[in-house]
Amino acid sequence: MATTIIFNACIITMNDDMEVIKNGSIRVEDNQIKEIREGKIEFSNAEYFDAEGMIVMPGFINTHTHVPMTMLRGYADDLPLHTWLNEHIFPAEARMVTPENVAVAARFAFIEMIKSGTTCFNDMYFFEDIIASEAKKAGIRAVVGESLIDFPTPSFHTVDEGVARCESLVQQWYGDSLIHPTICAHSPYTCSKETLQKAKVLSEKYNIPLHIHVAETRKEVEDLTAQTGMAPAEYLYSIGLLDRNVIAAHSVWLNPKEIELYARTRTSVAHCPKSNLKLASGIADTDTYMKAGINVSIGTDGTASNNTLDMVEEMRFAALLPKGSLYNPEAVNARTALRMATINGAKALGIHHLTGSLEVGKRADLIVIHADASNMLPIYDVYSAIVYASNSKNIRSSMVNGKWIMRNRELMNINKTETMESMKHIVNSQIDNRK
Ligand SMILES: [Zn+2]
Repeated sequence: MATTIIFNACIITMNDDMEVIKNGSIRVEDNQIKEIREGKIEFSNAEYFDAEGMIVMPGFINTHTHVPMTMLRGYADDLPLHTWLNEHIFPAEARMVTPENVAVAARFAFIEMIKSGTTCFNDMYFFEDIIASEAKKAGIRAVVGESLIDFPTPSFHTVDEGVARCESLVQQWYGDSLIHPTICAHSPYTCSKETLQKAKVLSEKYNIPLHIHVAETRKEVEDLTAQTGMAPAEYLYSIGLLDRNVIAAHSVWLNPKEIELYARTRTSVAHCPKSNLKLASGIADTDTYMKAGINVSIGTDGTASNNTLDMVEEMRFAALLPKGSLYNPEAVNARTALRMATINGAKALGIHHLTGSLEVGKRADLIVIHADASNMLPIYDVYSAIVYASNSKNIRSSMVNGKWIMRNRELMNINKTETMESMKHIVNSQIDNRK
């Protein structure tokens, strides 16, 4: 049995009482947190990790992304979503998304994610079986689902083939300690009612999350209202889709009735502030959503529309945007923003019994932040220091499921140089292709 003691740490637990231990220790045995308390825990045959000058907190949970889109970072910028998606991204994906490229692009994404403190991500893409295998090798917690959509994709030609791929992914990883399968339906504007209902049947059969893009743009709301007479979330509710297993990405354009529907059905939101700004989709009123009782988490979306996977930056946008848009400095305070980036994400993904806070019995998914740094001192309030002052370079080490995946900025399971070379090779062949 491997035991690690992290000591001399300022521990932000993110538990229900928002307990902070100014100088404490954490005892990790195998993949579990066994003890957290003030002072130094003494234990025989343990590996000791001195966290002097460091903050230890739960790792960030990125609740909406498409990791292989690192291949398309900066491929088409400064365009409206529907032009960007239909005229640029979908055609490029048809050429570039192969199992080999997805493996490289996923590994490449993990480098940035781990270095910016993400310990768990929720992904929707194609060839998710490959992303799951790469995540397992990298040691990062992954929530993965094959994206169901009504047109042929790089990984399936018909919806029924897609449904079969979804279910085989679930069967392959169900019960794994690190990889958590989900069902994904791309959106109400790319999936028919029948496709959405097939996704729902699978989500119910395995009692796992259903991940979907909802109400991202005004155009989506207008088009769907013209077709169905209902706004996107009302429509999804009317076909029985919304419940506590649903994680609805974006949800920028919810009307008051839809806000009430999300709260009542316990549908969670994956708020993607930077992607929504970059594609000029709008600003989700997360302050109102949370006051209505909705669980709101944070996602980066893919790097083609962000263009980073940095949760520190994303969290800061999530804290600042509501203040500016509502002219209210009290909207989404630092504590709330940090909850959105950690425990709310775990709740949205139905894995809050495993991760999202540092508590005895949970898996050891944590990050070590160098707080004794010129950009963070003085620290009057730890939440303020992390949300408003830190950056990804302050994150020194990261542990997932009880194992270090980064120590002192060095990745333990990914060959960074080799992965970067492979990504350059993919991009160069693509540039040749575009000529
Ligand atoms: Zn997305």
